[in-house]
Amino acid sequence: MRPEIEALLRPDLRGGTAYGAPQLDVPVALNTNENSYAVPPVVVEAITRAVAEAAAGLNRYPDREFTALRGALAAYLSRSGTSIAVDQVWAGNGSNEVLLHLLQAFGGPGRVALGFTPAYSMHPIITTTTGTTWVDGMRGVAGAGAFDLDAASAVAQVRAHRPDVVFLCSPNNPTGTALGLDVVEAVHEAAPDALVVVDEAYAEFARPGTRSALTLLEGRPRLVVTRTMSKAFALAGARLGYLAADPDLVDALRLVRMPYHLGTQTQAVATAALNHTDLMLHTVDVIKEQRDRIVAEVAAMGLDPVASDANFVLFGGLQDSHVTWQALLDDGVLVRDVGIPHYLRVTAGTPEETSRFLGALAALVPTHRLEAS
Ligand code: PMP
Repeated sequence: MRPEIEALLRPDLRGGTAYGAPQLDVPVALNTNENSYAVPPVVVEAITRAVAEAAAGLNRYPDREFTALRGALAAYLSRSGTSIAVDQVWAGNGSNEVLLHLLQAFGGPGRVALGFTPAYSMHPIITTTTGTTWVDGMRGVAGAGAFDLDAASAVAQVRAHRPDVVFLCSPNNPTGTALGLDVVEAVHEAAPDALVVVDEAYAEFARPGTRSALTLLEGRPRLVVTRTMSKAFALAGARLGYLAADPDLVDALRLVRMPYHLGTQTQAVATAALNHTDLMLHTVDVIKEQRDRIVAEVAAMGLDPVASDANFVLFGGLQDSHVTWQALLDDGVLVRDVGIPHYLRVTAGTPEETSRFLGALAALVPTHRLEAS
């Protein structure tokens, strides 16, 4: 960076690194937990029709309250059995923007946000760009249940750091495992002055029996559950994330959002997709099968997969994760090096993509596996 620009930059941003998952043109892209399946033709048609109908009206600003979309999101969330009212829903350009709104409204200079690392890498970035102080809490690190977070440990860390905002990620990215609701309840109780954010970007992929934090919203106005259409809904390109929370909390977000932040075309695309929810979600089961297949086959190779409730698997047991990452890429398979020594993360794609990944990895394992000492 030019010194003149560096000198102008906010001091806390100097020397920082931007979010930058590689966007490479490779045969098998399994590095950003997208849904590998294209939008079904029937939904492509519905989206095209909706955008065409909206196009002539683009001379006007969009519906600031995204009324139709909000109704569709509330109806979708309510399908799980927990009734979510329209005024409990907020949306943005990806759940990243929704998280930004939360930090703009409830964080800021002099305030502290706590997350439990390793978790989603954007949580600290969104936190610090709003001038909020980030505190790196810890998950379990080794042995069976590595990366788990239990209620006692989470509560102890909350009591030690007295955060204003707590991030919980369930299922957790990059580790994959969902949290028990006992952890959410315990953190909420241990931090009586904090906003508790449960990032459920991957909720639709959770294993049977996993309960969503949506079921805890009633009577907990400081609790927020964020979701996205980028994963199970196969709509990452549209940029639509959302949250459910108390109506007054949602109302506070109007103080920080830019006017008309959700474009007419975004609202039209997302609403059209939600009108075809069953079709949009029909790939979830096949992706879960591939996820479970990765866990089983990677374990059979003598590596250490982490239990996953998401559309990806974190696996350890590699001598040098970066060397393996590069070797897979040389073979046309792009996975994610999340910066955890000896581990890599792979998205569960189509059966063919999964086979390509497993084949490429199996060929490397004899020379790349970390030998037990
Ligand atoms: N939360 C988690 C845990 C994620 O992994 C991601 C995307 N990788 C997001 C939020 C943001 O997704 P989006 O902005 O596309 O909704």
